Amino acid sequence: MKDTMSGKGAICPYCDHLHVPEDEEIWELYDPDCCGLTCTSCGEEFEVNVICSYTWVTEKTDEQEEIEMARRTAAGMPGRMVQ
Ligand SMILES: [Zn+2]
Repeated sequence: MKDTMSGKGAICPYCDHLHVPEDEEIWELYDPDCCGLTCTSCGEEFEVNVICSYTWVTEKTDEQEEIEMARRTAAGMPGRMVQ
């Protein structure tokens, strides 16, 4: 069996054509329940299994930062530099 796993797009198992979602506007490739595709190169139909991975990064909202600033000021520490 050929290795068709790719982080760039869906590789046709028949002709190795790489279907990049952004290039060919195949947005269902981002659907975890995706799907059967018809190769735009050779016309063969094939199944696509989408493997998702998620990464999270967080940051404080302005509101939270203001609360913290007020806390720091209340504790006698300089909050914002006054010019
Ligand atoms: Zn193909």
